[in-house]
Order: sequence, then structure tokens, then C-alpha cells
Amino acid sequence: MSQDNPQEGSSGSPEGDIAGLALALQHALGRREAMGTRRIARLDALPATPPRPAKDLPAAHAAPPGPRSSDAAPAGGGPATAVPAAARTAAPAAAPAAAPAAAPAAAPAAAGGRGAAPSTAESAADARPKDLEDRASGARDLGELEACVADCTACGLASTRTQTVFGDGTGSRRILFLGEAPGEDEDRQGVPFVGAAGDLLNDIISKGMGIAREDVYIANVVKCRPPESRDPLPEEQALCSAWLERQIELVDPLVIIPLGRHAAGHLLGVDAPLGRLRGKVHDHMGRKVVPTFHPEYLLRSPHEKRKAWEDIQLAMDAAGLPRRTP
Ligand code: URA
Ligand code: SF4
Repeated sequence: MSQDNPQEGSSGSPEGDIAGLALALQHALGRREAMGTRRIARLDALPATPPRPAKDLPAAHAAPPGPRSSDAAPAGGGPATAVPAAARTAAPAAAPAAAPAAAPAAAPAAAGGRGAAPSTAESAADARPKDLEDRASGARDLGELEACVADCTACGLASTRTQTVFGDGTGSRRILFLGEAPGEDEDRQGVPFVGAAGDLLNDIISKGMGIAREDVYIANVVKCRPPESRDPLPEEQALCSAWLERQIELVDPLVIIPLGRHAAGHLLGVDAPLGRLRGKVHDHMGRKVVPTFHPEYLLRSPHEKRKAWEDIQLAMDAAGLPRRTP
């Protein structure tokens, strides 16, 4: 899978901690070290969380359809473009809904043309039935929200899931990693990022960032596994964003790290290759967003780990965490 600029970090001789993490992560793939044998800093022992401007409920957006491709960024892809409002709102459901308890999947009016471009929050909200919105905003804490999600049948993924996969993380939550959708392992265990990609994410968190997995929060754009682990459809993402938006609000992270172009595009409301989104800090409703590669992509393209480490360091800076050498 190529990125926008193939020269950038494709090999070279990276020095210092960047090379350190790349090596550490590569070694980690073949040689598992038991968690806890390394010294892991607890976030509560780190400097106080820096102040953040007041923010509103962050909006999320449907990413473009396509095969589940993590960071498969077409080479020379166009510039980051805002997804047209009609594309961000839910199209009529392509997947048969599983006898939804909620209202119909799409708000027909949302697909029609409009005058002025709506705000991102408006367009996401247009795609969702009101009762879904109400249930999400009525959840007073993550436990209540998780219970609502466990009952959700708003989109067709309810009929194929084993269980919902809500989120993971109990400690101080400066950082929220956002994946795309649960895979087979996650569907079986009910926890995000527990398969091979999860192992690499754990290494990034513990060996790279020097903190415990429990000290970050991990969630996905959609809470149910798509069949055959295909990419979630735009309407599925749009519906599930009611839960995601409330989840983000309740977790209240300083920094969100979307993993892969689909999660990044969803959150930022743009359709762009990851190569155009990573490497910088975006602002989204008062929260910093630092996209990086999806771990599944890094497993296929280990040479990109150097750039992933650059992104992680950027995110650590944004979260007020000290840089370190893995
Ligand atoms: N990939 C994701 O995007 N999320 C998971 O939870 C696992 C794999
Ligand atoms: Fe509900 Fe989201 Fe699962 Fe669809 S993917 S059934 S919207 S929880």
C-alpha cells in the first residue's frame, strides 16, 4: 500500500528514538515481552493535564465507502477535501436493517440538496434518528452508554455481530485511540484491538509511549463487526456516530488518535489519503486530532513505523506527555 510520498521515511537510516521504536516494534512482532516486565509510567504520575478550551460535542462523519483497507492510500491521491454533505449523511441503507428497534436508518431529507453547507455537527445529526440521539445524550456515564449500545439495533450490523464492542480504558484518559470497526477477535471477546493489530497497538502504547494500555481509551467508529470484516458502510458509520460522539464527550480526551484513513476521515469529515492527514495536529471541536496509520497497515508495511512513531510523538506533545526513547 503506498502513501502519498513514497520517499518520505521509506527506508533511510533513522536515528535516535525514532529508530529505537521502529526496532523495538519490529522485534516485538516476533518476540513478545510479557506486559509489565518493562517499567511503565502511570499517567497519574505524569505532569498535570494541561488546560483545554471549552468544547462542544464533537461531530463525527461517515468515511467514504470502499474495501476495508486501513491506510491503503492511493499514491498521489488528491488533496484533503471535505466530504460533501450528501455523502456524509446516511444514504438509504444498502444492508438490510435487522428489524431495527430504532427509527429507519436514514433521514430522507438529509440526502436532498441544500443551500448553505451545514455544520459538521448538523450533517452528522441529520443522518440519525432522533431517538438514537436522545438515548445517547441521555446516558450519564460510560456505563450507561455501554448498556445503550449493547441494546442497539439501529443498523444492519446488529444482525451479524456476536456482541457489541464498546471501548476499553479505565485510567486517566488524555488520549483516545480510534479504530474503524471490531474484527473477528474483538467481536468474540467484546474488547477493541485484541487481535494481531491490538498486539501492535499495545506495543506502541507500552513500549513506545511508556504508559499502560489502561491509561488510554480505545474505541472504534462503529461498535459492531461488519460481516467478513468489510469496511463499515457510510450509513452504519453515520448511525453509530451518535454513540461515538457521546462516548468522546464522556471520555473527554485531550487528544484523539484516529488509526487509519477511515477513522481519520470519519472524525474530520474529509475524504483524503492518510498521508495527507497524518503528521499534523488537527483541531476538532476543541480537541486535538493526530491521525496515524492503522496497526493492521503497519503490520503489512513495517517500514512505515518510523512515521507512525513521529505521529505518536506529536500526539504525546499535544497531550502534554513527556517524549521518551522507547
Ligand atoms: N481494527 C479496528 O479498527 N478496530 C479493532 O478493534 C480491531 C481491529
Ligand atoms: Fe448500533 Fe452501531 Fe451496532 Fe449499528 S454498528 S447496530 S448503530 S451499535
